Amino acid sequence: MNKQIVIIGGGPAGMMAGISASSNSNNKVIIFDKMPEMGTKLLVTGKGKCNLTHQVGRVDELFEGYPKGSQFLHSSFNKFGPADLLKFFEQRGVPCKPDRGKRMFPVSEKARDIRDTLVKELTKKNVTFKLNTPIIEIMTENGAVSAVRTAQKEVIPCSRVIVATGGMSYPWTGSTGDGYIFARKTGHSIVTPRASLVPLEVAESHISFALEGLSLKNVKATLKADGKVIDQKFGEMVFTSYGLSGPIILYLSRRAVVCLSEKSKTTISIDFKPAVAKDKLLARFEADIEKNRKKLVKNMLDEYMPQKLISVFIQESGLQGSKQCIQLTSKDKNRMVEILKNFTLTITKPRGMSEAEVTQGGVDTKDLDPRTMESKIVKGLYFVGEVIDVDGYIGGFNLQAAFSTGYSAGKSACQ
Ligand SMILES: Cc1cc2nc3c(=O)[nH]c(=O)nc-3n(C[C@H](O)[C@H](O)[C@H](O)COP(=O)(O)OP(=O)(O)OC[C@H]3O[C@@H](n4cnc5c(N)ncnc54)[C@H](O)[C@@H]3O)c2cc1C
Repeated sequence: MNKQIVIIGGGPAGMMAGISASSNSNNKVIIFDKMPEMGTKLLVTGKGKCNLTHQVGRVDELFEGYPKGSQFLHSSFNKFGPADLLKFFEQRGVPCKPDRGKRMFPVSEKARDIRDTLVKELTKKNVTFKLNTPIIEIMTENGAVSAVRTAQKEVIPCSRVIVATGGMSYPWTGSTGDGYIFARKTGHSIVTPRASLVPLEVAESHISFALEGLSLKNVKATLKADGKVIDQKFGEMVFTSYGLSGPIILYLSRRAVVCLSEKSKTTISIDFKPAVAKDKLLARFEADIEKNRKKLVKNMLDEYMPQKLISVFIQESGLQGSKQCIQLTSKDKNRMVEILKNFTLTITKPRGMSEAEVTQGGVDTKDLDPRTMESKIVKGLYFVGEVIDVDGYIGGFNLQAAFSTGYSAGKSACQ
């Protein structure tokens, strides 16, 4: 029997679903997207270079990239994992290469090449695209999908609907949370959508303002809620006028957002010298002070931190930069070490969805079959990509989840 398969959303998940759904040429596959072109968000991924996946030997090595949903993704990864994805693009003239560890990018470093390859493949497989066409309703009959309705009031009968509408972050790319409305209306539970991989605002705005633009490497940031350590990350970060950003802050933001939503006192402490224990640092300080007895404190600090940090450091430690090293008391020295190892800022809120790379939360995975992404509540209805309550860290994990879940759903829908 011929089927009409409707895909709502032409992002990476929807496009891959379209490609795998069209492997049975008896079916008609139509992708609807509300934007004027396919894959608007895909084009801005990885700063326009598209970190499409993470290079791993075995599929289970991917799991640590997903704070939520890795078990649910297991079956999809086995059907279409990173190696399959890289082969898919390689065979279509877009080879990929690793960068910064195991992050995989097209050799051309152009997200557009990834997007265009997907569109070309869809065209080759006779998939129809309807752009500028938002879907506003999924219609059901006797517990199965029967049609979708467009904003232009057209009703499209179909027996399979794949919802690939993305999350709510970067809403100008078309991902405005419509999938959550479709899911709720058809009886599915939603885990509260929140920002993830998002910069954070701090209460100590005088500090962030003074340090704006200061980028630090090899520091360790510790997230705490009501004084309890929640998570830690080592690497790069940057101060902004409103607070903190950069890779390790985006990583910690996922859990910081949850702590804030629970009204916990949320802090991030920065260890500027993670490789040196407190007692060793104190001993080094004392030796330097001994060698530079007449030097002003602020001049001695050059060796310990970037210039921009010195005045903030002096202010926060309650020292006078004009003091000579010899005048430092043991309390002063301990305080300096404490600040270098444990510079604590209070997090007030995440930046908005417009600055979040990903939405955490979404359609509850307990309502979906992990082998096919089909709903356990409505027959013929599938959810794929970021609309599901699955999210990954930076490193290509989110796009891989979108491609893998899209592939699984398309394969199932076309049978
Ligand atoms: C700035 C930025 C950089 C990123 N970089 C990376 C990266 O390098 N690597 C990585 O793995 N991840 C990255 N991500 C995350 C990644 O882009 C997303 O996880 C991924 O795009 C999700 O794919 P998706 O197909 O589920 O949804 P989306 O890409 O959000 O696509 C959803 C599509 O659905 C359409 N749509 C929505 N509602 C409707 C409707 N009612 N009717 C019709 N169409 C509709 C939208 O127009 C959109 O085209 C980045 C995200 C951002 C914002």
